[in-house]
Amino acid sequence: MAWRSSGSTNETLIENLARNGLIKQDRVKQAMLAVDRAHYAPHAPYQDSPQPIGHRATISAPHMHAAACESLLPYLRPGSRVLDVGSGSGYLTHVLAEQVRPGGKVVGIEHIQPLVEMGVQNTRKSAEGRDLMESGGIKYVKADGRLGWQEEAPYDAIHVGAAAADFHQALIDQLKAPGRLFMPVEEDSEQHIYIIDKKEDGTVTKTKDMGVRYVPLTNAPAA
Ligand code: SAH
Repeated sequence: MAWRSSGSTNETLIENLARNGLIKQDRVKQAMLAVDRAHYAPHAPYQDSPQPIGHRATISAPHMHAAACESLLPYLRPGSRVLDVGSGSGYLTHVLAEQVRPGGKVVGIEHIQPLVEMGVQNTRKSAEGRDLMESGGIKYVKADGRLGWQEEAPYDAIHVGAAAADFHQALIDQLKAPGRLFMPVEEDSEQHIYIIDKKEDGTVTKTKDMGVRYVPLTNAPAA
């Protein structure tokens, strides 16, 4: 149960997620302990639930961020390149960056300018975040994430934080071989996480995982 993992501090939230089996791997736990969710979620940051952040966006629940990191972890090494599509609050962008330092880079793509700025400002609230921004370990860009971000491709890992209407070949093309894409996909008004693996020989497999509820990956709203 998601709510059972809520805490009164960042540390108790993460410890409860680990105790309830939602975080299994120590590197994921250490990265989530290193990033204070209060810098990214304006209300009830230590509750294991999604929270609105404005502009019809939500910061996902901590257990969903944990699930994404647990799945992508084999591809998150010092020096890895990562793309975070729909970076919103910037929370997961920062947690991913903690897992690829030193030498790694996470590009957060967001299509709403005030949210790009929110991600930058949130990340700059901590010394670690400022250091990652200044050293190039985190970069935020404004673009349509459905097209990926060719400038820094290929990526060891790609995370998509909004539900896609299809598999977006551009994202699969920008994966390294080997590499992994974690993405919610909506089919027949149901959403599921898909794990898309590109093997070393370039073959691609799609594995359907848990049912989820994300905001949709859309066209940018009219300004
Ligand atoms: N990972 C973020 C999730 C934010 S919600 C977090 O936990 O904070 C999903 C985000 O996807 C929203 O911020 C929304 O603006 C963004 N989004 C939706 N469609 C997009 C697109 N086509 N390109 C880039 N970002 C998109």
